[in-house]
Amino acid sequence: MSLNILSKIQRSSPGEPEFYQAVEEVVQSLEPLFAKEKKYLEYNILERIVEPERAITFRVTWIDDQGRLQVNKGYRIQFSSTLGPYKGGLRFHPSVTSGTIKFLGFEQIFKNALTGLAIGGAKGGSDFDPKGKSNNEIMRFCQSFMTELYRHIGDTIDVPAGDIGVGGREIGYLYGQYKRLTGSYEGVLTGKKIAWGGSLARTEATGYGAVYFAENLLASRNDTLEDKVATVSGSGNVAIYTIKKLYELGAKPVTCSDSRGTIYHEAGIHLHTLQQLKEQGKNESLEKYAEIHPDAKYTPASQYPEGRHPVWSIPCQLAFPCATQNELNLEDAKALLNNGCILVAEGANMPSTPEAVHAFLEAKILYGPGKAANAGGVATSQLEMAQNASMIQWSFEEVDARLKGIMQNIYLTASQTAEEFGQPHNLVLGANIAGFRKVADAMIDQGA
Ligand code: GLU
Repeated sequence: MSLNILSKIQRSSPGEPEFYQAVEEVVQSLEPLFAKEKKYLEYNILERIVEPERAITFRVTWIDDQGRLQVNKGYRIQFSSTLGPYKGGLRFHPSVTSGTIKFLGFEQIFKNALTGLAIGGAKGGSDFDPKGKSNNEIMRFCQSFMTELYRHIGDTIDVPAGDIGVGGREIGYLYGQYKRLTGSYEGVLTGKKIAWGGSLARTEATGYGAVYFAENLLASRNDTLEDKVATVSGSGNVAIYTIKKLYELGAKPVTCSDSRGTIYHEAGIHLHTLQQLKEQGKNESLEKYAEIHPDAKYTPASQYPEGRHPVWSIPCQLAFPCATQNELNLEDAKALLNNGCILVAEGANMPSTPEAVHAFLEAKILYGPGKAANAGGVATSQLEMAQNASMIQWSFEEVDARLKGIMQNIYLTASQTAEEFGQPHNLVLGANIAGFRKVADAMIDQGA
């Protein structure tokens, strides 16, 4: 059955390797569940769940600063509404294809289920490249994107948020256009700024959550973050707040990266400098970081060893991939393990290749897959929806405390499920089975 699904996907979605990769991992994890529990096969859940409920593709035309008409592709894949309104981010990046959005949407179903909150799974985005665009170009693009998207979303229907290339500024332009078109002031997007309906701690949530998850992993071996050296990839929201929370809890983060290069700062990443270069829609080169801190080493991407990311060759006890999918391969995993790494917690979605994941599981290190470790972002989005629906705003401390509790619950759910199936260290299996079981049981309840 499972093999049939995989070959069907290979035939029907030939140009979507990341989607295939994501499904294959889930399907493999589910084998022990299907062996124990026949109802999921009887109700044909697997074949249903790999097919999005709705996939919207649209044209986005916008006018650049030279007055030329530009065209990009827009996507929103509404994968599953079984547990609640569709929920998931928007990614603006030139590498985005329907396959990228499909894999992210598929992952989102299980991630969102694991949070224990009432949210379905979706993802959207565009192949628009925000790099080098003026503020006005970003605004016109966002307005045009929303001019099509608005008819498909709503605060109880589908609630998009940010992802790579979409932060507070973009959410603002998208939200303004939604309001202009519908006249409705509602919580239709999350990741809004605080003054107009955003939640405190949403910006920090994915990074903080990944570190809280790591704290739970370490506690299972009576260990803490104190005095551990950590490598972090990326330099967006997720990486920045992973770094911040690592410092707060006594660890020392020593790396960050962007698409153009990597910083290794043995003394510890200077958070303020990183924020100055990368926050508020800025995307300055990390080369400037090394100019400000001459004891830091900058390696431009053109000097990376063949197929490798230098972040993962740096000795550390903890690794936090917070950049993008498939950024950490088998060679990287081996380098981490050889250098004494004891924990990997994924802030990005599917950052480790299947071979790298296998190596981590074989070595029985503490491994938190993205679906579990980075779920704090979307969970806090749901807290934003809850605040919007009740027209109140919680304090930072209140949201942060809830986030901490949610991350602990996700950890317990994944680890107890892994234990139930006789593989206590395997949180890939635990997260996939726990997420799937919740959605699948609800699908059975709701009928075909
Ligand atoms: N893009 C984030 C994720 O991958 C957040 C999604 C959301 O907040 O809806 O989970």
